[in-house]
Amino acid sequence: MTVRPTQSMQATARAVRQSVRTPRAGRAAPLRQSAASISAAAAASTSKTLAGRACSAMMRRPLAAGSRTFATTPARRAEPPPPRRPDFKKLDAADVAHLRSLLGSPDSSLVTTIPAPNGEWQACAQDDLVSYNSDWMDKYHGHSPVLVKPKSTQEVSKVLQYCYQKRIAVVPQGGNTGLVGGGVPLYDELILSTEGLNQIRDFDDVSDRSKGILTADAGAILESLSNFLHPKGYMMPLDLGAKGSCHIGGNISTNAGGLRLLRYGSLHGTVLGIEAVLPDEKGTVLSINMPGGGGAGALRKDNTGYDLKQLFIGAEGTLGVVTGVSILTPRLPSAYNVAVLSVPDFKSVQTVFKETRTHLGEILSAFEFFDHEGLEMVLEHTGAQSPFESQPEEGAEKPFYVLIETSGSNKDHDDEKLGGLLESLLENGTISDGTLAQDETQVQSLWSLRESLPEAAGKLGRVYKYDLSMPVKDMYSLVEEARERFAEKGLDKDGSIKTTVGYGHIGDGNLHINIVAKDWDPKVEKTIEPWIYEATAKRNGSISAEHGLGLMKAPYVGYSKTEPAIAVMQQIRRLFDPRGILSPAKYLPQASELPFQSEEERVQ
Ligand SMILES: Cc1cc2nc3c(=O)[nH]c(=O)nc-3n(C[C@H](O)[C@H](O)[C@H](O)COP(=O)(O)OP(=O)(O)OC[C@H]3O[C@@H](n4cnc5c(N)ncnc54)[C@H](O)[C@@H]3O)c2cc1C
Repeated sequence: MTVRPTQSMQATARAVRQSVRTPRAGRAAPLRQSAASISAAAAASTSKTLAGRACSAMMRRPLAAGSRTFATTPARRAEPPPPRRPDFKKLDAADVAHLRSLLGSPDSSLVTTIPAPNGEWQACAQDDLVSYNSDWMDKYHGHSPVLVKPKSTQEVSKVLQYCYQKRIAVVPQGGNTGLVGGGVPLYDELILSTEGLNQIRDFDDVSDRSKGILTADAGAILESLSNFLHPKGYMMPLDLGAKGSCHIGGNISTNAGGLRLLRYGSLHGTVLGIEAVLPDEKGTVLSINMPGGGGAGALRKDNTGYDLKQLFIGAEGTLGVVTGVSILTPRLPSAYNVAVLSVPDFKSVQTVFKETRTHLGEILSAFEFFDHEGLEMVLEHTGAQSPFESQPEEGAEKPFYVLIETSGSNKDHDDEKLGGLLESLLENGTISDGTLAQDETQVQSLWSLRESLPEAAGKLGRVYKYDLSMPVKDMYSLVEEARERFAEKGLDKDGSIKTTVGYGHIGDGNLHINIVAKDWDPKVEKTIEPWIYEATAKRNGSISAEHGLGLMKAPYVGYSKTEPAIAVMQQIRRLFDPRGILSPAKYLPQASELPFQSEEERVQ
């Protein structure tokens, strides 16, 4: 890749600083023509060809001695999920009639393929439930005949109480954007959707000095909550590509991370209260630090007993159905900057990250990376032009890209800091090309390079998705190892695997590896799993950084958790869900292993 010789680096760094505009005030302009090009400055500092820079030694470095031994619980190879539990009741017309009687507006709140013997309701076609029975990736498919959409916590309680009594298996579902098969039925479980629970209950902008406190139903869509908060000068503490569909209850249940975790922290820190309904004989409503729920309400400080709400964050619908949440909402920053930079190798991604932390400190709100294969895939999918003027030469090492976002309250201060960072990176030749957004349209365009990755992969083929947590230095060697493995097995040559891309949240040590295959193919899956989990464990990583366990990773949790930890989790699950009706066969290795309540216990 050759960088172009132009004006002096100092002058360009100054120009970069001057060209930064408050995105919201800026005029939309074609990205390529009007975005400030940083590459010019890089050219001034060095006009040498960067392609010759070898892939860093760091990327290929052997793993640290003394790596943790993994698979404390014997991990299973890819195998079919456990069979349907025979003791679960098969839903029939009597169940539908009863469930309808529990719901306030049964025609809009219950959809079923089961015909009414007396014409009491109209059965729908199988197709009408397909989108609730299939996941976002079209990988997991159930065949539930009943979807309920309660409109209040009390209705959820009645439904779960009934399901407990009748031993009806239930899968809670939010926006159905989950990526591990957790939110769709495996067999014929009743689907309990939170779509009907979509009200904002309260917004308190007085009690906390620096943040607001939002209380909402679990089915509120993340983006709609953001839209509610923005005019008030606040924002949601999390943001993810699926924001237009995912529910806040789904976010809580998966402990979603997303693009701003680096700045605002995890939901374990920002969630103040949770309301959840338990799958027990009473359909108990558990209100933990929720305003108006009895007991303490949405307090920042409450040291009375176990912090039960934490158990629901990331429980993936195995302990109860989350129906409400109270969450801290930070102030909406008034100044944003977004830059996308091109760097020659993954070692440089790490260098830029270190320098970025040093220079930007508290105004850094996102630091993402993606590889060249990812960029090509997105450009192909969206039809957008590359924001970079230089392209890798044939046979040269492929560059990497980092997206840096700053957000703060003082534009001049933020511009000064970002300018200082760019100047330093240009001076030491770490970056080779780049683009700085000048207005809101360009902010969106640059973000879409990163946010369109999952969708672009989905359009290209069937995507085997892995979201892994590991030390940053070891991240990309795993992507390279995967490519080598697929090449050895001939899976790239025979077209079974179309491409393998790596991207993720560098700031959180979170790698997303998307392996795009021609089809769902057991041969491909066996090549990937459990190898990828072993490779992650060897790097002292976790097999799920954010998507969770669901159906996909339930058998493999032993790669990241010890046997005693899994045993305690199973006990907790049984305590909350004595009959094991919630999301059976998911989350933990179970079915035969998890001791559910016996028939005798049930009768008592
Ligand atoms: C394009 C795209 C980008 C994504 N980016 C990210 C990202 O950056 N970070 C990230 O963490 N995830 C990401 N995801 C994954 C997904 O969006 C998140 O996991 C999200 O939090 C799921 O919310 P949902 O409402 O769609 O939940 P669903 O998919 O409906 O359900 C997910 C799980 O939670 C359970 N559940 C849902 N609602 C409830 C409830 N009210 N009570 C109890 N259990 C419940 C379900 O049973 C299931 O196990 C992305 C997905 C897509 C498609």
